[in-house]
Amino acid sequence: MNIILLGPPGAGKGTQARKLVEERDMVQLSTGDMLRAARTSGTEMGKRVAAVMDRGELVTDEIVIGLIREQLESNGSAGGYIFDGFPRTLAQADALGELLRDMGENLDHVIEMQVDDQALVARITARSTCGSCGEVFNDITKPIPADGKCSKCGGSDFQRRADDNEESLRTRLLAYYKQTSPLIGYYHAKGDLVSVDGLGGMDEVADSIAKALA
Ligand code: ADP
Ligand code: ZN
Repeated sequence: MNIILLGPPGAGKGTQARKLVEERDMVQLSTGDMLRAARTSGTEMGKRVAAVMDRGELVTDEIVIGLIREQLESNGSAGGYIFDGFPRTLAQADALGELLRDMGENLDHVIEMQVDDQALVARITARSTCGSCGEVFNDITKPIPADGKCSKCGGSDFQRRADDNEESLRTRLLAYYKQTSPLIGYYHAKGDLVSVDGLGGMDEVADSIAKALA
């Protein structure tokens, strides 16, 4: 089963993708994570996209489609793929359709996670990530444990993303409404879309997604 998690920044796509990986043996393909890894490792491409990402704008279709193509070619996935943060434009959606078709694969479901803007801003400005394992924490709903150690891996290096500030968040939201939200209509027309309420707790949202996939 191959699925897309679609939704604005802060909707919880990464959190739910990680849960699906644990529970269903699926492979998570997050273009945001790939781009951040490219930055950290200092590749030419990583350097080129850094400023764009920090402003909250979209990286070119060519770069992200290339990243996804590479992953699909090198990673087998018996349990299927979860596309997280990709596609974000209609051109990316078309490219994904072609890549899957060439592999003899289908897109099974597109899950739209709905969260209102106010909640997104609150979530994102409270967010931090474990630098060792990627576990996501939130000052309000899921604080870093009192002993200062990651509940998952015991690491103690927590990071806030450079683009998790109000200004680039505004740009990211605008990019979402302008460039990504048209995909909702696109996948609805193809009959692949299911919308879930992303406002509840982590487990509640996971239940809604499980129902949508059943
Ligand atoms: P968010 O939490 O905003 O959904 P991501 O981690 O998915 O963030 O992405 C962070 C940034 O990486 C985006 O703001 C954008 O600059 C870039 N990016 C990630 N995926 C894509 C994509 N599919 N197309 C273009 N840019 C992307
Ligand atoms: Zn950790």
